[in-house]
Amino acid sequence: MVTAANKPDSKELLALLSSVCDPEIPVLTLEDLGVLRNISLDNGKITVTITPTYAGCPAMEVMRSDIETTLTEAGYQQVSVQQSLSPAWTTDWMSANGRQKLRAYGIAPPATTTCGQSTGHIECPRCGSGEVKKISEFGSTACKALYQCQDCREPFDYFKCI
Ligand SMILES: [Zn+2]
Repeated sequence: MVTAANKPDSKELLALLSSVCDPEIPVLTLEDLGVLRNISLDNGKITVTITPTYAGCPAMEVMRSDIETTLTEAGYQQVSVQQSLSPAWTTDWMSANGRQKLRAYGIAPPATTTCGQSTGHIECPRCGSGEVKKISEFGSTACKALYQCQDCREPFDYFKCI
């Protein structure tokens, strides 16, 4: 009998890994964030390579164990998660879909395009206004800054470019 354990399928693996979310921003999957670098299969052993968004980000340990749990529960027995630190992750790697999800979640996405060009402005995720003011360099986590919209008056988190 062919089971997941002895015949890993990379498409299925990718689908499973796509269901693993960022512990801090649960609407974003690892794929949306662009942290998923590589999946390799060798004699039934699966090695998943991820690049941490921020060095020392506490969420990475959670992600690592979520990946292991997800694959183990799907029947894969030999799973290891590696970190690749070079090249370093940048917000450019976040997918267009990921940026849309961030906005819908109420967080302003990084003010760069997926090619890394600065768009030069931050928009309120609620009303789309560009009239925004920085309130604090740090929002709910170190990777976000706190802004307030001058039109609808709502405060919001901005995912900083790195
Ligand atoms: Zn607004």
